Amino acid sequence: MRIVLLGAPGAGKGTQCKNIVTRYGLLHLSSGDILRQERAAGAELGKKAQSYMDSGALVPDEIIIEMMAKAIEQAPASGFVLDGFPRTLNQAVELDRALAKLKINAVLNLEIDDRLVAARMTGRRSCPQCGAIYHVDNLKPKTEGVCDNDGTELVQRADDNPEVVANRLETYHRQTEPLVDYYKNNGTVYDFDAGKDVDEVKASIFEELDALDKAFSADAVSN
Ligand code: ADP
Ligand code: AMP
Repeated sequence: MRIVLLGAPGAGKGTQCKNIVTRYGLLHLSSGDILRQERAAGAELGKKAQSYMDSGALVPDEIIIEMMAKAIEQAPASGFVLDGFPRTLNQAVELDRALAKLKINAVLNLEIDDRLVAARMTGRRSCPQCGAIYHVDNLKPKTEGVCDNDGTELVQRADDNPEVVANRLETYHRQTEPLVDYYKNNGTVYDFDAGKDVDEVKASIFEELDALDKAFSADAVSN
């Protein structure tokens, strides 16, 4: 399956992706995670992206499209989940072009009220080692400040501060939200109420994807 996750920053894309890739054996491709890895490695791409990320603006399309096209080439035949990409209409068009005959099978649109986003993002903590995502109130690790999986000290993202969060939200509404209509005109979009509990959102997503996965398996058998 080839899946795109849409939703405002803080909607829970990364959190739900981790569940999806485990259940369906897909590759998780987060453009934000790849950019942060490039920055941590001191790579040229990371340096170019730095000022945009720190202010809450989008990194220019030509940088992102090339980066994600390379990442998609590494995906297994079972497929991938795109998290944070595409984020502009131009990126979506270029993604379609890069995939050629391979279509995106499902777009999962995580809908969330802006008023919930700030608290989610300022309370987000993540593991720099394994990428696990926690929240200081909603999804606490067993020991405060420490990753359940590997004991690494959790970190707060520099761009998860109130001022940059406001910019990222504005950027989302202006540049990324129009993609919902783009995909509604070009493919299958499933809307989810991302304001619900993590497990409720997960169950709704699994219900739709289980049906899709079953249809694919039946297709593979009959062909
Ligand atoms: P995104 O990838 O869309 O930016 P994340 O998955 O990183 O969002 O989630 C942002 C923050 O909100 C994290 O701290 C996460 O633990 C928390 N979170 C995610 N989904 C939910 C939910 N359904 N209810 C409450 N908190 C959530
Ligand atoms: P995220 O981890 O998805 O919240 O992304 C963090 C930051 O990385 C964003 O605020 C952007 O500056 C940059 N970024 C991530 N994905 C993209 C993309 N598809 N297009 C442009 N910029 C991106």
